[in-house]
Amino acid sequence: MSSKMKKLYEGKAKIIFSKSSNQVVAKYKDDATAFNNLKKGSIKNKGIINNIISSYLFEMLNHCGIPTHFIKRVDQKSQLLKKVDIIPIEVLVRNYFAGSLSKKFGVKEGTKLSDTLIEYCYKSDKLGDPHISTEHILNLGLCELSELELIENYSLRVNDVLRGIFYAVGINLVDFKLEFGICKKTNQLILADEISPDTCRLWDLKTNKKLDKDRFRRDLGNIEDAYLEVLERLNLKLK
Ligand code: UDP
Repeated sequence: MSSKMKKLYEGKAKIIFSKSSNQVVAKYKDDATAFNNLKKGSIKNKGIINNIISSYLFEMLNHCGIPTHFIKRVDQKSQLLKKVDIIPIEVLVRNYFAGSLSKKFGVKEGTKLSDTLIEYCYKSDKLGDPHISTEHILNLGLCELSELELIENYSLRVNDVLRGIFYAVGINLVDFKLEFGICKKTNQLILADEISPDTCRLWDLKTNKKLDKDRFRRDLGNIEDAYLEVLERLNLKLK
């Protein structure tokens, strides 16, 4: 179906096609990148796996009353979405120390945070997505204060829902990244982008085995198996 639609944008993990003035189709790719594009590769079946996982999680979030761009999955690699203008902020939601936070403070990965921590990065490949404060966001006019308050509120609710879903299947949600956008049709702020092993840190509850993109970033091997394990634990099927 995507061959007939106009390509609007090609990102690192997805291609966005125009469906109508208010809707787009996102096609998930197998390409994998890390460290601001310095590391490139491909993960077998990643497009299909992430499309299925992200579709499922967005469906759950829609059910829980969190407004999202997700309408439905249309085929193995594609989903139909509400068209949004993406706010150029990455929202990092953290339950445990890991990755850049562990490095910054010299705290061992896997140490529990006393409370959920939200951090922000400015979405800019040219600048390498620098970490920014809420004051930066408002001063640079990246969004309004009321939108930032809503982003924080939704992000904490998303965290509650996702932690529960993953905990139930023996997975610890260490941290994750969210993106928000303004819906073209309604002008509402809604959750956008994807939620998948590419954008979350997911550790086995018992063994702490990493089931996410750190396997690619850190050359840990068995990447496809780890992504598949997340899919299967969520009781989803490769189809
Ligand atoms: N993350 C992401 N895309 C990014 C940066 C981070 O999906 O461009 C996710 C990452 O997978 C992790 C969380 O956000 O689940 C926190 O990332 P961190 O800042 O620790 O990333 P690192 O610099 O260690 O990759």
